Amino acid sequence: MKYVDEFRDGEVALKLAATIAVEVRPDRRYNFMEFCGGHTHAISRYGVQDLLPANVRMIHGPGCPVCVLPIGRIDLAIRLALEDGVILCTYADTLRVPASGGLSLMKAKALVDKTRGDIRMVYAVTDALKIARDNPDREVVFFAIGFETTTPPTAVAIKQARAEGLKNFSVLCCHVLTPSAIMNILESPEVRELGSVPLDGFIGPAHVSTVIGSRPYEFFAEEYRKPVVIAGFEPLDVMQAILMLVRQVNEGRAEVENEFTRAVTPEGNLKAQALVSEVFELRRGFEWRGLGVVPYSALRIREPYAEFDAERRYRLEYRPAPDNKACECGAILRGVKRPIDCKLFGTVCTPDTPMGSCMVSSEGACAAHYTYGRHKDAELDHA
Ligand code: SF4
Repeated sequence: MKYVDEFRDGEVALKLAATIAVEVRPDRRYNFMEFCGGHTHAISRYGVQDLLPANVRMIHGPGCPVCVLPIGRIDLAIRLALEDGVILCTYADTLRVPASGGLSLMKAKALVDKTRGDIRMVYAVTDALKIARDNPDREVVFFAIGFETTTPPTAVAIKQARAEGLKNFSVLCCHVLTPSAIMNILESPEVRELGSVPLDGFIGPAHVSTVIGSRPYEFFAEEYRKPVVIAGFEPLDVMQAILMLVRQVNEGRAEVENEFTRAVTPEGNLKAQALVSEVFELRRGFEWRGLGVVPYSALRIREPYAEFDAERRYRLEYRPAPDNKACECGAILRGVKRPIDCKLFGTVCTPDTPMGSCMVSSEGACAAHYTYGRHKDAELDHA
């Protein structure tokens, strides 16, 4: 298998579905969390849930970087553009996440004093570097979000800025870490005490695992007795991973298995890991939307690179801000609720008019459900 179409082959999917149906035990339920938004998107887009037996349920996890960004962090980015007059650069989806006061970065763009600053969409951190080079008399800040996949390019950009002597470039670092979020879910009252989120195993991240490898998940398998199967983002990857999880559960095993062997190794990308640890260090705590403050779950820029740290340069002080009261993003990110449980879903909240972060990115659970599967959920509820 070399080409992407072969990972989307409908006949193979049906065979896998038939195998899963034969192997699941009728006397129990199987509840698996797909951590990544990429898996959530694939499950919704290709109708994977519809191919599974009724007693196999997929629970969406918090692995969408735009979704977990708390409002307080977006407020900081808006402040940089409006009050400090910087050219604030970030990815398209980040621009659309609702912030405090009815604002978003997109809406704030109309309020910026263009003689000083701006808010610009970029495809990569290298675009922000170029903007800094092209505008030596302006301050340029890259609003860096994402999991371990997007962290190494930010580290490279900071090193590059130093090598070039770029004095007008800095980074608002909001990079977060996957294993800490998994731990937070496993330790949450909903999973540990209340049992309202029954979890029998995880589909482990695809792209994140190419960087960190499969070893970091061994702790969860051993300590919490939860099987983990790392899987690619194509529908057959996901189906195969579900079959592997079903087999582990049936056999009473709790191991880390790797379905995504074409890209993930046990040790991961050592060069990328070294780069990240040269430039970044752990924060004591970081607020995630839905999960609250999670200890040692995010990165900040190390002291030797402090001149590129926007938080230090602009003396930014983080202030938490409340979510929209009617928005259920927090509960959805913890696996407690589904998009259809939110009364704003598909009415006032759509991908064109997002009221919460889960409706912004195509990897967000609400956006994926709205685009591909909302009617099926509603029908199941009424069945
Ligand atoms: S539908 Fe909109 S308001 Fe409701 S949880 Fe999803 S993003 Fe939040």
